[in-house]
Amino acid sequence: MSNATPTPISDIGEFALIDRMQKILGTSGDEDLLLGIGDDAAVYRIDDERAHVITTDALIETVHFDRSFMPTIHLGFKAISVNVSDVLAMNALPKYATVSLGLPNNISVEMVETFYRGVRKACEHYGMTLVGGDTTAARHLTVNVTVVGEAMQHELIFRRGARAGDALCVTGDLGGAYAGLKVLLRQREAIKEQGEAYEPDIDAYRYVIQRQLAPNAAIETIRDWRERGVRPNALIDISDGLGSEVHHICRASRVGARIFAAALPVALETREVANEFEEDVDLFALFGGDDYELLFSLPPDVLEDLDPQSFTQVGEVTPDEDEVVVQTPTGDTVALDASGYQHFGGNGTNGAAR
Ligand code: ADP
Ligand code: MG
Repeated sequence: MSNATPTPISDIGEFALIDRMQKILGTSGDEDLLLGIGDDAAVYRIDDERAHVITTDALIETVHFDRSFMPTIHLGFKAISVNVSDVLAMNALPKYATVSLGLPNNISVEMVETFYRGVRKACEHYGMTLVGGDTTAARHLTVNVTVVGEAMQHELIFRRGARAGDALCVTGDLGGAYAGLKVLLRQREAIKEQGEAYEPDIDAYRYVIQRQLAPNAAIETIRDWRERGVRPNALIDISDGLGSEVHHICRASRVGARIFAAALPVALETREVANEFEEDVDLFALFGGDDYELLFSLPPDVLEDLDPQSFTQVGEVTPDEDEVVVQTPTGDTVALDASGYQHFGGNGTNGAAR
C-alpha cells in the first residue's frame, strides 16, 4: 500500500470515498443499530418502541459560506437547521445538539456570542437543547453540529421505501436558496467594503436571501403528519438539490422516477432572480441545493389526507430501476443525470453546479 500512487479524492468523488470508509469499518454486529451509514441519519433502538437518530454536518468557511455575507447570527441558526433537516428526514424530531467550533484568530468574542444567539434561537424554534461541544483554534471558521432526535420505531421513514406508483412530493418551494446565493455573490464586492456592517438588500430579495442565510427545516410538516397519522413510504431531505436526492431515493428503493418540470414549486421572487440572471429557473429548482425541504413518496390516494397547502406533487415513482427522467413542459422526456446538467435544457450551462 505505502508505495502505491496516492489517488486524488476528486478521482473517485465523495460517495465512492464513503463506500471505501464503509469497507474498512465492516458491518457492526450491534442488534440495536437499525441503520448505519447510508441514510440522512443513523438509527438505533433505545427500547422496544423508541429509537434515536443521530446525524452530523459541518459548515466550513470558504466551502459552505462566505463570512462577508453570512451574518454570524444566521450562521448559528443555519448550522442547527441543516442538521435538524437530516433528523426530520427520518421522520424523527430533534432533541439534543452539540456544537464544535474551530475559530480563526480574527473572530471576536462578540461574534461567537452572536453565533450562539443564532444557535439558541434555532434550538428554541425546533424545541431542542444544546448539551455540549468543543472549541479549538482553526485556520478557517469551522462549525460542526451533531443532533440527536427521537421517534417511535414504527414512525421511522427511510430512503428505501418508495414503491412504483407512489406520488413524489416536496414541501415548500425550490431554488430559492440558490437564487439568494446568486444575489449575495453579485453584491460581494460591496459587502467586502462594508464588512460586518453589511445588511442585505432585503427589500427586493428578502425571501431568497432568507432562504440562503437562515433556512427553516420543515419541522411543521413532520408534526402535521403525526397529528394526521400519515406516514409516507420514503423520505429524504433536499439539501443537495432535488436532482440528486431523487436519485438517492430511487437507488435505495430500486425504483425509477418521473419528474414533471412544470410542477416544480418555485417562488415568484426566485423566478424573478432567475430571469434577471437570464437563467432557467427549473435548473435552480432541480440543482440549486441548500433548500432544506423534504422529498417524500406515498400512494396517490393518501395525498388527500395531507394539508394541501403543505406540499406539491412533483412527479411519480416508476418501476424502472434507477431510471430518473424529467418531463419538460413541452412533453419531451429527458434523463435526469444528477451531475449531467447538460442533459436537461441542452445548453450545457448550469450555474447551479456546487
Ligand atoms: P447528507 O447529505 O444527508 O448529510 P451525506 O451525503 O453527507 O448525507 O452522507 C451520506 C452518508 O454517509 C451518511 O449516512 C453519513 O453519515 C455517511 N458519512 C459521510 N461522511 C462520513 C465519514 N467521514 N465517515 C463515516 N460516514 C460518513
Ligand atoms: Mg440529508
